[in-house]
Amino acid sequence: MYDLLGSRGTIDMGIRREATVEEVLLSHRRRKRHRRTILNDIEKELDVLRDKQNAAGRDLDLWRGPAGYKAKFSNRNTWLMTREIGVTCTWGTSVWFPQATPKFAFMVWLATRNRLATMDRVASWSPGIDTTCCLCKNALETRNHLFFECSVSAHIWKQLTQGILQSSFASNWDAISSLITCASMGKQKRFCLRYVFQTTIYSLWRERNRRRHGEAPAPKEVLLKQIDKAVRNKLSLMQSKRVKGLEGVLQYWFGTRL
Ligand SMILES: [Zn+2]
Repeated sequence: MYDLLGSRGTIDMGIRREATVEEVLLSHRRRKRHRRTILNDIEKELDVLRDKQNAAGRDLDLWRGPAGYKAKFSNRNTWLMTREIGVTCTWGTSVWFPQATPKFAFMVWLATRNRLATMDRVASWSPGIDTTCCLCKNALETRNHLFFECSVSAHIWKQLTQGILQSSFASNWDAISSLITCASMGKQKRFCLRYVFQTTIYSLWRERNRRRHGEAPAPKEVLLKQIDKAVRNKLSLMQSKRVKGLEGVLQYWFGTRL
């Protein structure tokens, strides 16, 4: 440009003598109107080049999300991109529910994940150990046996829940697990079932540990009474606290006793 127009040209155009074409295109220089045709021709040529550059696409900041790159930032999508998404847990709310007793819920959580030290699992790291169920002394102790295939625990479970479940009564672990996760059950029935399930698991596991450590076994009728009493105490407390939806829960429990 300097060769063609001299120093006057660079001044009229408002462009430094040493500037490159790229710098001029990227600068925020305003287009001018000139008296001299050649200067207007240069402005026109710069417009053409600028249009070409825009058509080719400039660098843009984009955010990666599950559906590809987007100009708009979404903190949800960015968070999702930084973590691995696991399988949704279907049983969580049936273990950790409002008004649950934490130590009972914890035992049920362990049992649900099959992490209790039942003898079938203990034998895998201590071979040769006696793996017989200490409640019935008649079968291999596994989680599913203890809850509630075992004749002792099955009797207790049936006495406690037959009246609640009636025709849908089950004593098999998987069937009970799907019953307590069922969303369509009435609030009182669901709370009683979940709570008695947790109390029974806690009590039977404690009794099993007592027997393993050589203490005198408690008869099943005594265990049954203890669990029933623990549930009644809890329901009575719920009633006095006027927990929404559980107002007549103690009467409901009495109505389901055999
Ligand atoms: Zn047994």
